[in-house]
Amino acid sequence: MLKAKTRFLKSHVKVGDMVCVLSGKDKKKRGRVIALSTREKKALVSGINKVKKHLKARKIGDDSGIVEVEAPVRTDKLQVVCPNCDSPTRVGHELNQKNIKVRVCKKCKKQFAK
Ligand SMILES: [Zn+2]
Repeated sequence: MLKAKTRFLKSHVKVGDMVCVLSGKDKKKRGRVIALSTREKKALVSGINKVKKHLKARKIGDDSGIVEVEAPVRTDKLQVVCPNCDSPTRVGHELNQKNIKVRVCKKCKKQFAK
Protein backbone atom coordinates (compact mmCIF):
# COMPACT_ATOMS: atom_id res chain seq x y z
CA MET A 1 0.00 0.00 0.00
CA LEU A 2 1.01 3.60 -0.46
CA LYS A 3 2.25 5.53 2.51
CA ALA A 4 0.97 8.92 3.55
CA LYS A 5 1.21 11.23 0.55
CA THR A 6 2.05 14.39 2.43
CA ARG A 7 5.80 14.28 1.80
CA PHE A 8 7.36 16.53 -0.81
CA LEU A 9 7.93 14.82 -4.11
CA LYS A 10 10.83 15.81 -6.30
CA SER A 11 10.31 17.01 -9.83
CA HIS A 12 12.67 17.53 -12.76
CA VAL A 13 10.89 20.77 -13.67
CA LYS A 14 10.86 23.90 -11.55
CA VAL A 15 8.87 27.10 -11.56
CA GLY A 16 10.34 29.49 -14.12
CA ASP A 17 11.76 26.75 -16.32
CA MET A 18 11.33 26.78 -20.07
CA VAL A 19 9.76 23.43 -20.94
CA CYS A 20 8.83 21.54 -24.09
CA VAL A 21 5.72 19.37 -24.39
CA LEU A 22 6.36 15.83 -25.63
CA SER A 23 2.86 14.64 -26.52
CA GLY A 24 -0.74 15.69 -26.90
CA LYS A 25 -2.35 18.62 -28.61
CA ASP A 26 0.48 20.98 -27.69
CA LYS A 27 3.25 18.62 -28.82
CA LYS A 28 6.61 20.34 -29.43
CA LYS A 29 5.31 23.64 -28.09
CA ARG A 30 7.32 25.52 -25.50
CA GLY A 31 6.30 27.57 -22.51
CA ARG A 32 7.38 28.74 -19.11
CA VAL A 33 6.29 27.00 -15.90
CA ILE A 34 4.02 29.30 -13.89
CA ALA A 35 3.00 26.97 -11.09
CA LEU A 36 3.90 23.48 -10.01
CA SER A 37 2.23 20.84 -7.89
CA THR A 38 4.73 18.09 -7.12
CA ARG A 39 2.12 16.08 -5.24
CA GLU A 40 -0.19 15.93 -8.22
CA LYS A 41 2.78 15.87 -10.63
CA LYS A 42 1.16 18.65 -12.60
CA ALA A 43 2.38 22.01 -13.83
CA LEU A 44 0.79 25.13 -15.20
CA VAL A 45 2.65 26.21 -18.31
CA SER A 46 2.08 29.52 -20.07
CA GLY A 47 0.40 29.07 -23.45
CA ILE A 48 0.12 25.29 -23.07
CA ASN A 49 -3.06 23.21 -22.69
CA LYS A 50 -5.47 26.09 -23.11
CA VAL A 51 -9.08 25.32 -22.37
CA LYS A 52 -12.17 27.42 -22.83
CA LYS A 53 -13.91 28.27 -19.64
CA HIS A 54 -17.49 29.47 -19.57
CA LEU A 55 -17.86 32.14 -16.95
CA LYS A 56 -21.11 33.27 -15.47
CA ALA A 57 -21.33 36.63 -13.76
CA ARG A 58 -22.23 35.87 -10.15
CA LYS A 59 -21.63 39.28 -8.63
CA ILE A 60 -22.27 42.78 -9.86
CA GLY A 61 -19.23 43.88 -11.83
CA ASP A 62 -18.27 40.35 -12.89
CA ASP A 63 -18.04 39.63 -16.58
CA SER A 64 -19.65 36.62 -18.14
CA GLY A 65 -18.41 34.99 -21.28
CA ILE A 66 -15.95 32.45 -22.60
CA VAL A 67 -12.30 32.86 -21.66
CA GLU A 68 -9.27 30.79 -22.53
CA VAL A 69 -7.17 29.71 -19.57
CA GLU A 70 -4.29 27.31 -19.10
CA ALA A 71 -5.06 23.95 -17.51
CA PRO A 72 -2.44 21.93 -15.62
CA VAL A 73 -0.30 19.48 -17.62
CA ARG A 74 1.25 16.29 -16.27
CA THR A 75 4.95 16.90 -15.66
CA ASP A 76 5.94 13.57 -17.25
CA LYS A 77 4.83 15.08 -20.55
CA LEU A 78 7.31 17.93 -20.10
CA GLN A 79 11.01 18.16 -20.79
CA VAL A 80 13.20 21.01 -19.61
CA VAL A 81 14.69 23.14 -22.39
CA CYS A 82 18.37 23.66 -21.69
CA PRO A 83 19.29 27.37 -21.75
CA ASN A 84 22.82 26.55 -22.97
CA CYS A 85 22.11 24.30 -25.97
CA ASP A 86 18.45 25.32 -26.49
CA SER A 87 17.10 21.79 -26.84
CA PRO A 88 14.67 19.72 -24.76
CA THR A 89 16.73 17.44 -22.58
CA ARG A 90 16.75 15.02 -19.70
CA VAL A 91 18.00 16.35 -16.39
CA GLY A 92 20.91 14.98 -14.40
CA HIS A 93 22.10 15.89 -10.93
CA GLU A 94 25.60 16.78 -9.83
CA LEU A 95 27.26 18.32 -6.81
CA ASN A 96 28.89 21.68 -7.38
CA GLN A 97 31.96 23.12 -5.63
CA LYS A 98 29.92 24.02 -2.56
CA ASN A 99 28.51 20.45 -2.37
CA ILE A 100 25.05 21.62 -3.38
CA LYS A 101 23.06 19.45 -5.73
CA VAL A 102 22.48 21.18 -9.06
CA ARG A 103 20.67 20.15 -12.20
CA VAL A 104 22.70 19.50 -15.33
CA CYS A 105 21.81 19.09 -18.97
CA LYS A 106 22.29 15.49 -20.16
CA LYS A 107 23.21 16.68 -23.63
CA CYS A 108 25.81 19.41 -23.11
CA LYS A 109 26.62 18.53 -19.44
CA LYS A 110 26.36 22.19 -18.43
CA GLN A 111 24.67 23.27 -15.22
CA PHE A 112 21.34 25.00 -15.24
CA ALA A 113 21.29 28.55 -13.95
CA LYS A 114 19.31 27.56 -10.87
ZN1 LIG B 1 22.32 21.63 -22.79
